[in-house]
Amino acid sequence: MRHQQTLTKSSFLSGIGLHSGNPASIAIHPAPPNTGVIFIKHVDAHFQSCPATISFLGKTDHCTTLQAIDFQIQTVEHVLGALAGLEIDNAYVELQGTETPAADGSAAPFVDILHQCGILTQEEPRTYLKIVQPISVEDEQRSITVLPSALPTITYFIDFPHPLIQQQEYRHSCTPHEFQKNIAGARTFAFRKEVEFLWSRGLGLGGSLYNTVVFSDTGLVNEDELRFPNECVRHKVLDLIGDLSLLGIPVIGHFIAKCAGHALHAQLVQAILKNPDKWIILNAGKTEKEHILNGNTFPASTVYLPELQPAFHYL
Ligand SMILES: [Zn+2]
Repeated sequence: MRHQQTLTKSSFLSGIGLHSGNPASIAIHPAPPNTGVIFIKHVDAHFQSCPATISFLGKTDHCTTLQAIDFQIQTVEHVLGALAGLEIDNAYVELQGTETPAADGSAAPFVDILHQCGILTQEEPRTYLKIVQPISVEDEQRSITVLPSALPTITYFIDFPHPLIQQQEYRHSCTPHEFQKNIAGARTFAFRKEVEFLWSRGLGLGGSLYNTVVFSDTGLVNEDELRFPNECVRHKVLDLIGDLSLLGIPVIGHFIAKCAGHALHAQLVQAILKNPDKWIILNAGKTEKEHILNGNTFPASTVYLPELQPAFHYL
């Protein structure tokens, strides 16, 4: 039986938001067992909170946004990917600004600060959602299916008509070791011809060659090389890991994604919740399944966290 994990102490990362272009900082704090991951903001001497669950899903246009009553958090997928990839179940992610920091466009800087925090094993067992029958979502040529599998696995396929990308397929065995070695370092990518269109819609305003792989019509705009020849499909695996974590429980199944994106990732999470006959919960307490199905049993606005010292203060 595996146990839940949190962090030994808090750690911080500052930068700018990839899409907003505004200053963005996070502090990641330890949290008690069965907390899950909760975004928090310290305002007027108390914390406002937004659990990182699908109930609080906002827009999924080029990034995944969570929307609570009091605030929103843009581009949650890379920090959530790092937490899920390292199998950290419980954490408070304190936010300054409206977006997580872009860092270098990958999850590697988040992995680094999580290791700076130290990972702490807790007494409570970790519960898992085990897929027992296939669940699928599709949208024209895009699709994701999750199949029963003994081990958590992701196979992602992409097809972009660009000489440096074209068709790429990557199969990822979901372990912290594989995540750190093969997925965490894969950066966000964009196409130069789309950049102005993104800007016109208020997206990618913090994007730069420091935090994004930018493809010209035939090559790469960045001076440095790709970190992996198939960096793009590896980044899609990262995005999927982050988005799937909005289920609030790790899944044992084999995900097969074809040309998908944040919106379809989120639709799959919703489809899993709508089909409770197609999965079972392992190591569950009595009310666990109901709790997961409700998905919104955490307080959505103001919470009192007496054990936590805020990292940021707002005027
Ligand atoms: Zn991404």
